[in-house]
Amino acid sequence: MSWNQKIGKKLNKELILQQVLLKSHISRNEIIENTNLKKATVANLVKELIEEQFIVEAGKEESTGGRRSSLLKLNERAGYALGIDIGVNYLRGIVTNLDGEIVFDIQQEITDNAFENYFKKIIQMIQLLTEEVPKSPYHIIGLGVAVPGTIAMDGTIIHAPNLRWQNIDLVQQLKSYVDYPLYISNEANAGAFAEFSFIHNMQHQNMLFVSIGYGIGVGIIINGELYHGELGFSGENGHMIIQMDGKTCKCGRIGCWEAYASEYAFIQEAEKALNVTDMSIEKILPLYANDHNLQKVFTDIGHYIAIGLMNLIYTFNPSKIVIGNRITLLQNYIKKEIFHKFNSQSSSSYIMDQTEIEFSTLQDKAIVVGAALIAINQFLQPSKLGS
Ligand SMILES: [Zn+2]
Repeated sequence: MSWNQKIGKKLNKELILQQVLLKSHISRNEIIENTNLKKATVANLVKELIEEQFIVEAGKEESTGGRRSSLLKLNERAGYALGIDIGVNYLRGIVTNLDGEIVFDIQQEITDNAFENYFKKIIQMIQLLTEEVPKSPYHIIGLGVAVPGTIAMDGTIIHAPNLRWQNIDLVQQLKSYVDYPLYISNEANAGAFAEFSFIHNMQHQNMLFVSIGYGIGVGIIINGELYHGELGFSGENGHMIIQMDGKTCKCGRIGCWEAYASEYAFIQEAEKALNVTDMSIEKILPLYANDHNLQKVFTDIGHYIAIGLMNLIYTFNPSKIVIGNRITLLQNYIKKEIFHKFNSQSSSSYIMDQTEIEFSTLQDKAIVVGAALIAINQFLQPSKLGS
């Protein structure tokens, strides 16, 4: 077989696999219709994919009279991915099957933000996750790591301001510990990738994932692909100015969105209202019902989130915005305020009325699942998309 034929065969195989991924149960005839490949080519390549354990037979089509074709689906247990979410103050790790379903999930609090400390814990977490990976033909197919910072195209962490990390080549440092592919992504990009991978979101070719945790970042999907920007630094909208002469942000500038609408800002304001220290979202929530000052803090954060979202809508005109990360723990308390603020300003705005807004159904797991999905995507579709 010539080099061209080999490449052609590889691409055709990926094309077939992509069809199986796009529609969870698909017949050989549908694949032929959707790809315009020859019947014999599809038959041969499907046979190979079954032998390689990437896909499996999955019952018969519903009868519409005549012969019922057999259906194919991804063998979600052909291999497993690891995902790690490096958060400010925590580390979360998961093992997922090739459908992105979590089979093991662990979270650990971190008190010392120094990179050396995190690195030790990351290695321990990888070992722990590895022990939990079920037996499978391809075992661990990759590790995706999400970081709250700007990531260069080669995976170097250029700057993670809330962790105070700069210029860290995490890929290089992790390489001696793992023998499978590694992918480092910005946390908001990982969240966006997770949301966009859902079948119900695939029609949203232009969507945003707004990650509101300790800081704020935005993952941007444009025309069905992650938008990285010229150097990989897109989506740093936590630092767009929403208040002139306002609060000082951790980045040193004045009036950033993050200084008003992040988890950090929320906790700071809640501590002031309650006149206490050392709070967390989990500790604050039970106090909501009986404290009027605290309720005002919830209202304010909803208001500030809405203002930033409006700025994003006018910049990107997305069909959908998904709000994710730890702020989803507040969603039942602040949703009303966000939509109220929105509706009060959008009555004359066609563009805002046309934007769907929801909290991530993956809640605070979107980022870690996205990190694993980026690794899975590279394994199943190496010539498609990028992280
Ligand atoms: Zn800032």
